[in-house]
Amino acid sequence: MTKSKVLISGASVAGPALAYYLQRDRYDVTVVERAAVPRASGYAVDFRGAALDVLAEMGILAAIREHETAMHGTVLLDETGSEIGQLPAEAFAGELEVPKQVLTRILHEITSADVEYVFGDSISALTEHESGVTVEFERGLAREFDLVFGADGVYSKVRQLVFGPHDEMVCHLGLSGAGFTSDNYLGLDHSGLLQSAGNTAIYLFSAADRDRLTVSLSFATDSPELDRRDRDEQERAVRAAFAGNGWQTTHLLDAMTAADDFYFSSSCQVSLDRWSRGRVALIGDAGYCAAPTSGAGTSQALIGARTLARALADADGDYTTAFATYERELRPYVAENQSNGRAAAALFGGQGSTDGVDGQ
Ligand SMILES: Cc1cc2nc3c(=O)[nH]c(=O)nc-3n(C[C@H](O)[C@H](O)[C@H](O)COP(=O)(O)OP(=O)(O)OC[C@H]3O[C@@H](n4cnc5c(N)ncnc54)[C@H](O)[C@@H]3O)c2cc1C
Repeated sequence: MTKSKVLISGASVAGPALAYYLQRDRYDVTVVERAAVPRASGYAVDFRGAALDVLAEMGILAAIREHETAMHGTVLLDETGSEIGQLPAEAFAGELEVPKQVLTRILHEITSADVEYVFGDSISALTEHESGVTVEFERGLAREFDLVFGADGVYSKVRQLVFGPHDEMVCHLGLSGAGFTSDNYLGLDHSGLLQSAGNTAIYLFSAADRDRLTVSLSFATDSPELDRRDRDEQERAVRAAFAGNGWQTTHLLDAMTAADDFYFSSSCQVSLDRWSRGRVALIGDAGYCAAPTSGAGTSQALIGARTLARALADADGDYTTAFATYERELRPYVAENQSNGRAAAALFGGQGSTDGVDGQ
């Protein structure tokens, strides 16, 4: 019997996790990733609830635990830098926290022997027909697949091609920020500091690499388009937001400009009426991003991969039934995470409306 051929766009978390399950279930899996090599993002991600079962099922829980940040907790500071409280480690680190790049690397390692990875390319067009999907690429030759999955993040190319423009599905929560690392000049040891002042927040921590300090400078803004501006403009926006802020701000702004691992991102949620159309389905942030403030994005990506793969296995190739099951089972969990994401964004000066972006 010929194997069904599937294409997954995106090789971060949701993509390789889905690839793991589908190759195990005897699909012929290709993953295309825009980046030239597996991405090495600077921040840490955490796992909660059933996501740990997914890691165990994939046989990587022990390997992931070896890289645990093992944070002790976070000290809350007022505008002057004086301590006003403490947060337990679980507040940011969930049940288990690791650098995101470790997760991506391990997922790639456990799938690379059985999955075709194409780095440095992107889907450019998708045409569905009766027996499959014709996929065109920016660089490679056009190919045929039975099913296509968009696991390509908040600004998913698959979603844009099949479901519509970003503006109709991506909701900005009014909170943006810069992230980078600097030398650990405060001597933090598996601990964090969170200073919240008006519409800005500084979060600093140091974990496994005691020489490095991970820095996040976030601020309330109604300019989601900053995500797509160049670094100079993003840095100017950060400096404007933090102007007049005391404590460590001057030092940290200088460290931001000196950093070679600077990134900028906005807290967004993705909301769609349906997560599939015909032979194309979305997974992870591409379909239902709950925003970094939810602390659930990585867990959602892993649980989403397992739910989708199980639905496909149970439906024995009937993808329409499988996609409906996937969505029915996962929606309540996503709705709860998105609600938490909005509430947490509001704590940092973002727009934490209690209404769902999709009315949930
Ligand atoms: C600053 C920050 C902090 C966060 N902190 C946490 C946290 O503490 N806990 C937590 O659980 N989650 C956190 N998250 C969220 C978490 O990173 C995501 O929810 C999770 O990575 C989703 O995985 P994904 O695979 O769906 O998408 P992503 O990780 O966004 O991966 C998408 C992949 O698709 C690729 N891609 C994009 N476009 C294309 C294209 N056209 N063709 C091919 N490939 C493409 C990208 O390069 C990327 O590799 C944080 C996110 C940010 C930005």
